[in-house]
Amino acid sequence: MGDVEKRIRILRRNTVTAEISDELRGYSWEKPPVEPATTTTISVSDINGFCPTRRDIYVKYILRERPSLNPYMLRGIACHRLIKETITSVKKAVYSGFRTGSEVIDEFYSNHAIPEKISRDTGVDFRELLSLYRFLVIQSAAKIDDVVSKYPNSDSENIAGLTFPPIIERKIDGRPVGLSPNLSVDVFTPFSIIMDFKTGIERYEHRLALAGYAIAIEADDETDINFGCLIYIRLGDHLHFTQEEFVITDELRREFLEIRDEIAEMIDSAVDPGKPERCHRACAYFGVCNESGN
Ligand code: SF4
Repeated sequence: MGDVEKRIRILRRNTVTAEISDELRGYSWEKPPVEPATTTTISVSDINGFCPTRRDIYVKYILRERPSLNPYMLRGIACHRLIKETITSVKKAVYSGFRTGSEVIDEFYSNHAIPEKISRDTGVDFRELLSLYRFLVIQSAAKIDDVVSKYPNSDSENIAGLTFPPIIERKIDGRPVGLSPNLSVDVFTPFSIIMDFKTGIERYEHRLALAGYAIAIEADDETDINFGCLIYIRLGDHLHFTQEEFVITDELRREFLEIRDEIAEMIDSAVDPGKPERCHRACAYFGVCNESGN
């Protein structure tokens, strides 16, 4: 996380945030283009669909079919859970009196309860989860040693606060800007950055989705959200991370708002847009469109 902080600071220094137009901020929700074109609300994840004709929208909202969780989605769910549960557990240990990295390693490194449980629940390969889990444990341990050597008189509260990123899972009512009432996104509090962890391939749509969350928070809080951060995690024998930080520009905002209105209008019209020439196997509605006669 320290790396994210540094890179965002550089981005912030080099960005004239005043260039983001007020009319494209979420708090301008009472007038176009932020004001939704219809009263229909959508979820931000609708922007990320794999379907070239957007039939996924028709299947979800008109046929009212449920998505089936495919291996890609399960990996994402497993990773989010693993990160949250591991950090929460180590944090609790700090509050209970741990003051050194070696205490954390002794307690957690060979205790596989967290990845084992998540692997059982989701079917995601245990060894892949274990490598991410161990990475998190080692990073936390190193950071605790770092904090304590820098601030030897720190109490548990200080150690926990300085070791773990102040990320909160933020709930947002997106209705003023045409989105669902129960959105949820990770927010990195010191710089009002919104973040998301991803396990799939890097896609431009992920930036659009973060633009949507930014607009929703701006509407909810009357505040400015200028930066997005996507962290892509590749599980496997060699754990790999890619990080993208970016400004949530006018272009991203405009594009998100156009797609939001396009999707809402598709739902209102209830017209089947038809299937593309080929369906992506990772599509959550593959069975519905290709095996059930819909
Ligand atoms: S299965 Fe095919 S047609 Fe159906 S939503 Fe997915 S990509 Fe679109």
